[in-house]
Amino acid sequence: MASKKALVASSLSLCTASWLVSGQGQAVHAADDIRGMNPSEWEDERVAQAVLYQYLSPISSVAEGNLATKKESNPLTYKVKRGDTLYGIGKVYGVDYRKLAAFNRIKNPRLLQVGKVLKLPLKRKWVRVKEGETLESLAKTYKTSEKLLKKLNPGVAAAGSVYTGQVIAVPSPIKVKMPKMGRENGSKRKVLRHASAAAGASSFSWPVWGQITSRYGWRNGRMHNGIDIWNEKRTSNVIRAALGGRVIKAGYSNGYGNLVVVDHGNGWVTYYAHLSRITVSKGQVVGKGQSLGYMGQTGNATGVHLHFEVHRNGRPVNPLSVLP
Ligand SMILES: [Zn+2]
Repeated sequence: MASKKALVASSLSLCTASWLVSGQGQAVHAADDIRGMNPSEWEDERVAQAVLYQYLSPISSVAEGNLATKKESNPLTYKVKRGDTLYGIGKVYGVDYRKLAAFNRIKNPRLLQVGKVLKLPLKRKWVRVKEGETLESLAKTYKTSEKLLKKLNPGVAAAGSVYTGQVIAVPSPIKVKMPKMGRENGSKRKVLRHASAAAGASSFSWPVWGQITSRYGWRNGRMHNGIDIWNEKRTSNVIRAALGGRVIKAGYSNGYGNLVVVDHGNGWVTYYAHLSRITVSKGQVVGKGQSLGYMGQTGNATGVHLHFEVHRNGRPVNPLSVLP
């Protein structure tokens, strides 16, 4: 390592080396030297500095030699901006949005607050770029995207490429414990579910993650009996039973399009409309979280979304009043 450092340092003028390893007093001195140079020398100097910096920085020295890589222990974070969705953020970082939700204990994707700092199930790992490696090959090796590599390495983003010997950060996944869906784990849970349904449907879950594109209530002079939920996955969205129960309708129904209706007992019934495909049949008993079909645009729908209704004793209620 020492010989490598010496090699790089020897190719530089003495004043540059002193700038990088010195305190403030000498930095002024170095700046004076730069002013005296012609522009092409100044450009060379900048490149040389970048190379030297890689060798002298603490990260670089840790990565040198036997310690080829170093992992940070803290997860990466992301500050939520206006218009962000869990799905969108997950896509940028190559993380499943359900993992993001579980990792941050987010129960309600609707309440993704602007300014909230999300923990990403990713750590920074430092690696040295080997001979012949490119952004593209690094992205492949570390199962990530060039876009994210640039995001993690502003220097790489600015240069548009990597160079041999450069130390860069790559994402390393953190294992996320996923919450279990209601259907698993047998009858004990089922009993509990029925008890809470009787107590006021406190155990309803979201039929699908996404943004609410239309709320319950009066809309253009007409009553909207449910909520509309949408996300970018569109027709690949699996729609899930909000609570266990029996399917009392599974088929086409005029304005609703492909519709599934589930009776949960105690007067509670849920509607899942505009589905592109239905995967249950009438009379079937479904557990909470069990798939019913896929998001779609059938019936009277202007775009792909789920229209979700909750009825209590034959009357629609605001789904947001029972969803967690
Ligand atoms: Zn609707």
